[in-house]
Amino acid sequence: MTGLVDLRTLRLIMSMPLSPSTVEAIKARIPQIAIDGPSGSGKSTVAKKLASILAGDYVDTGASYRAMSWWMVKCDVDIEDVDALAEHAYTPIIELGVNPEQPRVWVDSQDVSIDIRTPEITAAVSRVAAAPEVRTRLVDLQRSYAQVAATHGRGVVMEGRDIGSVVLPDATLKVWLTADLTARAERRAAQDQSLLGVSQGHDTVAEALAQRDVRDRERTISPAEMAPDAVVVDATFIDADAVVATVLKLVCGKLGIADV
Ligand code: C5P
Repeated sequence: MTGLVDLRTLRLIMSMPLSPSTVEAIKARIPQIAIDGPSGSGKSTVAKKLASILAGDYVDTGASYRAMSWWMVKCDVDIEDVDALAEHAYTPIIELGVNPEQPRVWVDSQDVSIDIRTPEITAAVSRVAAAPEVRTRLVDLQRSYAQVAATHGRGVVMEGRDIGSVVLPDATLKVWLTADLTARAERRAAQDQSLLGVSQGHDTVAEALAQRDVRDRERTISPAEMAPDAVVVDATFIDADAVVATVLKLVCGKLGIADV
């Protein structure tokens, strides 16, 4: 008998759900969970499932950058021009619906939840998100959602690129969720297909993801980066439920809660 656990057993252990009393104990601590990582790593699926289990709020910060980009494109603002982005960063009213079962995004009261997912907006967003004024404004907005959740006694699961490093530096748990590029492109293509009814081919999606990752990592303000105290979870070979179970166990570890 060796101390090694084979991969199948490990997956089984990881995907075992927590007991209801353990979930209640986590909820009572009003946790803030930061899920960061590159595009297509499965952050949204995992973050929504976590927020549902914990009856907490779900904040998709990428949606706020997409909403800002949607408004800039609609208003013909030159997204290559940082001064123009700065000038308009505070103009659109952006609201996020935080129900994980039905996340929504509004710009000036218009529901843009689907419109912000088109390839045109996806191509524009990392440029808009690099503008310092856009980031300052949206980071404030994102923090305000965490504040509202806490005020109402609810935890929050926030996903993005800089949640652990910038937006919620005191989060209960910081996860850097990653997966290899092929797995991420497959996921994103399937997501586009179900959401938009159409998807660009796998290679085009993979190339666009890779380019966006580079732009997100290399921008000067708040680059997409892992917080030093984040835990890396690689989702290349495990499904969303196993990731969720793993994250909940990590939260228990951080809060000193024993799963009984
Ligand atoms: O998560 P999603 O792919 O919808 O994010 C879209 C874009 O928004 C990212 O590529 C990135 O440029 C920007 N973003 C960001 N910081 C975050 C979340 C998203 O810069 N916290």
